[in-house]
Amino acid sequence: MIHPPGLDGARFGEASDGDPRTDDEAVARFARHGAPTAIAFPHQVHGATVQLATTAGAAGDADALITTTADLGVAVATADCVPVIIEGPGFAAVVHAGWRGIVGGVMAATVEAIGSMGLTPRQAAVGPAIGPCCYQVGAEVLDRLAGHVATTTWGAPSVDLPAAATMALGDLPVWRSERCTFTDHRLNSHRRDRTARRQVAVAWCRSGP
Ligand SMILES: [Zn+2]
Repeated sequence: MIHPPGLDGARFGEASDGDPRTDDEAVARFARHGAPTAIAFPHQVHGATVQLATTAGAAGDADALITTTADLGVAVATADCVPVIIEGPGFAAVVHAGWRGIVGGVMAATVEAIGSMGLTPRQAAVGPAIGPCCYQVGAEVLDRLAGHVATTTWGAPSVDLPAAATMALGDLPVWRSERCTFTDHRLNSHRRDRTARRQVAVAWCRSGP
């Protein structure tokens, strides 16, 4: 379990922490690390829809959830895509940012939604994702993320997804995990194993706005 320093309500689960969407043991494990047991999950569709969560359980099709409800966790599940948590007084938000979502503007849409609710971000955290070291991509992705082109450790073209996700956060203080899901076997990687398993990021606030 990753406790990003400086954030009030943020945890990035590792592979062994399980999936609170389907596993009560995992809910209990997150709770032992301070997270609420009531958690809302979007149905992730690699889009740019942001939803306000007010109750636990399945939310609609979205790739970002915001909550202003005290002790309601909002969560996304990833296995190479970038999990991002944004928090400020009276709210917490979580984003599932893969290349399609980033290109589609899910990060900017989340920041904009937070602002339009009259909320002020204070800090963000970028969890473990596939790094530019390993995220080999073809022309389709390179063209769309041309500002974030890098090279893998084996010399192939790649993009830096965590950097692309972070850019939309502007000058907000951001903690970054820097761990690469592809090479770190304590994390699930779809690219590495074609696994259906995910690690889960949970964000919450302790009091309303
Ligand atoms: Zn890597």
